[in-house]
Amino acid sequence: MKVAPKHAEMKQFPIKNNELHIGGVALSRLAARVGQTPFYAYDRKLITRRIGELRERLPQAIHLHYAIKANPMPAVVQHLAGLTDGLDVASLGEMRVALDTGVDPRTISFAGPGKNDTELRAAVAAGIIINLESEGELERLTSIGQALGIRPVVSVRVNPDFELKTSGMKMGGGPKPFGVDAERVPDMLKRIGALDLDWQGFHIFSGSQNLRSEAIVEAQSKTFELASRLLDHAPCPIRWLNIGGGFGIPYFPGETPLDIQPIADNLEILLEHYRPQLPDAEIVIELGRYLVGEAGVYVCEVIDRKESRGELFLVTNGGLHHHLAASGNFGQVIRKNYPVALAYPYQSEDAETVNVVGPLCTPLDILASKVELPKTQAGSLICIYQSGAYGYTASPHQFLGHSKPIEILV
Ligand SMILES: *Cc1c(COP(=O)(O)O)cnc(C)c1O
Repeated sequence: MKVAPKHAEMKQFPIKNNELHIGGVALSRLAARVGQTPFYAYDRKLITRRIGELRERLPQAIHLHYAIKANPMPAVVQHLAGLTDGLDVASLGEMRVALDTGVDPRTISFAGPGKNDTELRAAVAAGIIINLESEGELERLTSIGQALGIRPVVSVRVNPDFELKTSGMKMGGGPKPFGVDAERVPDMLKRIGALDLDWQGFHIFSGSQNLRSEAIVEAQSKTFELASRLLDHAPCPIRWLNIGGGFGIPYFPGETPLDIQPIADNLEILLEHYRPQLPDAEIVIELGRYLVGEAGVYVCEVIDRKESRGELFLVTNGGLHHHLAASGNFGQVIRKNYPVALAYPYQSEDAETVNVVGPLCTPLDILASKVELPKTQAGSLICIYQSGAYGYTASPHQFLGHSKPIEILV
């Protein structure tokens, strides 16, 4: 009996000649080309396709931004720069990657609590939109603008007075380090009006990794409603409204892909309803993992197979130091397996239940716990799907002094 990996319902990468193909290249060949395992491979066609499908559904007026925190590999960001309408950055390092793509600085925005003076100075000099996160930041930025003789381009990041329900990561509502509490925004806008700043609009981001379109629809409706309330206090007509993102991707058993259509339909209604209030405003959606997460895999190699008291362990050269999220240590409360597959060879004669672990001396170094995979041995390649976002740069590479993975865009 041929056994295919049970866990891998992932269909984005074709299987040919008993191995996974990425960007049209067989995985074993790709590994030879990279020159090492482990590596991350991102498929550019899948990224292009995802954005094409999204644009087909979303209203034309929606500007699509890429939040490069999800995957800041320069080649990936360059690819996305050509497909999206702007880039969102959260540090000076990300800002440099974004500027290197050559996009118009006015389409880059910079959010993040705790922007230091060096970052603010660089952002003013670059002419990108700075999302103000506090009153203190506003004052520092104003001084920096005066010192440089450049008028800072700003928007106010609003900590909304509602939450994004059932979100994997809530980033708005209640007390938060992100943004200015909605009820304090009117005073801040008054202050902005008194200063020499080029005010563009609002940034309202309520959360991340949401798979329920109803929740996103509700949050977006409340976001427009909040923006429209705050507009009464605006120092000049609004030109920019970033309504956040939060589109999730399925990682774990039982999760289903986000249905975009209800979101698109609701946006159409919102745009029509609020257009009189926002005649010249660009409406921006910022997405990270939804654009790149499913286009990437993490590939590692089996080093050893061993049995311990009735359980089987596949020990690989990859682990939490390369892929913290797959190990369950990047914000998960209860550890669940990322979709994992034996990728080369893809099938074998038998299946077995295994633990896929890494080489680190810590019990946290688990890539997959008790999964059924085709029976395999040292030298075969294991792949972890849904690894195009929050993989490489969200992992503690230094931990235990192993070598780093390589990243490629195929
Ligand atoms: C992290 C972040 C994003 C991207 O989140 P995803 O879940 O990857 O889409 C977008 N906007 C802001 C402000 C963020 O902090």
